[in-house]
Amino acid sequence: MNSVLFDKDLIARYEQSGPRYTSYPTAVHFHDGFNADHYVNMARRTNEDLIPSSLSLYFHLPFCSQVCFYCACNKIITRNRLHAATYLAILHREIALQGRLFDRDRVVDQLHWGGGTPTFINHSQMRELMAVTRDNFTLRKDDHGDYSIEIDPREVEEDTIAVLREIGFNRMSVGVQDFNPDVQKAVNRIQTMNQTSKVIHAARREGFHSINVDLIYGLPKQTVESFHDTLNLIIELNPDRIAVYNYAHLPQLFKTQRQINEKDLPDADERLDILQHAVDYLIQQGYVYIGMDHFAKPDDELSAAQQNGSLHRNFQGYSTHADCDIVGMGITAISRIGQCYAQNVRSLDEYEDNVNHGRIPILRGIKLDDDDRLRREVIIRLICNFHIEYSDIEETYGIDFEDYFYDELILLNKMEKDGLLSLNTESITVSPKGRLLIRNICMVFDKYLHSNQSSGTFSKVI
Ligand code: SF4
Repeated sequence: MNSVLFDKDLIARYEQSGPRYTSYPTAVHFHDGFNADHYVNMARRTNEDLIPSSLSLYFHLPFCSQVCFYCACNKIITRNRLHAATYLAILHREIALQGRLFDRDRVVDQLHWGGGTPTFINHSQMRELMAVTRDNFTLRKDDHGDYSIEIDPREVEEDTIAVLREIGFNRMSVGVQDFNPDVQKAVNRIQTMNQTSKVIHAARREGFHSINVDLIYGLPKQTVESFHDTLNLIIELNPDRIAVYNYAHLPQLFKTQRQINEKDLPDADERLDILQHAVDYLIQQGYVYIGMDHFAKPDDELSAAQQNGSLHRNFQGYSTHADCDIVGMGITAISRIGQCYAQNVRSLDEYEDNVNHGRIPILRGIKLDDDDRLRREVIIRLICNFHIEYSDIEETYGIDFEDYFYDELILLNKMEKDGLLSLNTESITVSPKGRLLIRNICMVFDKYLHSNQSSGTFSKVI
């Protein structure tokens, strides 16, 4: 059975802005009352858990040699490769500081280099970064972890993919966005099919387990027909996973987006047509809709995890590793340790100053209370499984679901009438029509959403 149904009228009616729930509470609610001491205490306490969880390491490599106008990432645009050496020296020291907080029997099940452009650094810097990581954390010796990297095919040399495989990566996410020349020009990202296919073929040759391709809909100059052509080229490349993100035009928040000519953006109606076509076409081509913006082949681990209810979601999107503590390193990186979130400082100067003084460079964070933990669990279960059994939550949190979420269930009643979900006295099940609107459903459980900090900071849900 098809897992998702596109109902354009319904989607248009529920059009609103909202979080992507890679964390709950979302980052806008992190505050500077949470500092490095809190983080260190929390990290040490996780070693004392009955069964300490394995670790997930995230490394932020912020440099890019040119800017894509749609970009909302934390990046530093420079062509001067020497900047990377200075940054990496500090990052190595942070890795040593962080490594000391976690017992060495806690294995790293997940590892991710994100950016920026991780391959901005040269091959010997890549080898050294992984070696420093191995010196300070316990990396897996088999090939069963999820060790992934974001790849910009324009920043890859002949043997880069082989080097990445040699140092332990087994998954990659390849940035494409759109192959149409007019769209590429409008967003200042010129990337040929040849550059992209070379990377993907090299990854297959080197034995990468899973290859994801990132696309964006809603970009300037995009039409249903032009995006169809991009999808066809992607299908030819045969990736295991495809993400189709919506372009969030928020020029008031992201300066680089001011270089996009608003008149070139597809209107709301065309955006929905592009999305509808993408969803229908990818399913027709044999991909399974995982949720939010993600599709995977039926034999990919994500599809299996969704089938057996073990799918999880964190800063890197969907994951099959539910219980890892996430240690984020590098500027702006976010950690999720025990019952807290913490984010590193933003500027290179602050980063260097903190690390040189032997401090974990925390800018802000939040310690979750019982209500946060409960709501996070509900939101994650809905996003990953499109279903929640009240009894599962009641047992873990000692609540009566219908009593605790009385007001929320009233709001969900209206969504039930609109066909987004079905409710009974034991569970909530999101319908195929409601799946693309899962962010709206989760927003009902978000108690922070109506605070002042939230306004104007989120993208449209579709
Ligand atoms: S989209 Fe990626 S490559 Fe482009 S500027 Fe942003 S981080 Fe750099």
